[in-house]
Amino acid sequence: MAAYCSDDRLSWIRRRLIDRGGPLCHACQRTIGVVADHDHFTGLCRGLLCWSCNLEIDVCPHLDGCPRAVYLNNPPALELRLRHPNAAKDRQHDHARIEYLGIDPVTPVRAWVRKI
Ligand SMILES: [Zn+2]
Ligand SMILES: [Zn+2]
Repeated sequence: MAAYCSDDRLSWIRRRLIDRGGPLCHACQRTIGVVADHDHFTGLCRGLLCWSCNLEIDVCPHLDGCPRAVYLNNPPALELRLRHPNAAKDRQHDHARIEYLGIDPVTPVRAWVRKI
């Protein structure tokens, strides 16, 4: 409890996400949601995820028909326009990885899946 309360911005975001989509994971709807998931490219929160969905959401191979694909195609919290406090740090990590690899391993696939 103390660890979560120390980060006011994140706990405020979690409350908004629960108001929006309920306390269960917004992807699988089976387990309690614990992670404020956000898009690393826009920095905006997409929804509340359980631990397992948070670990696997970005490697879901399906375009549709599975709860994680449905969630990614239409992120339930996107219209709240909540900026995740870790967004800037994550972008730095992404850029470091892109520089190291020489290619961007994620963006083209994601852009296509999300039908931008
Ligand atoms: Zn889940
Ligand atoms: Zn899937």
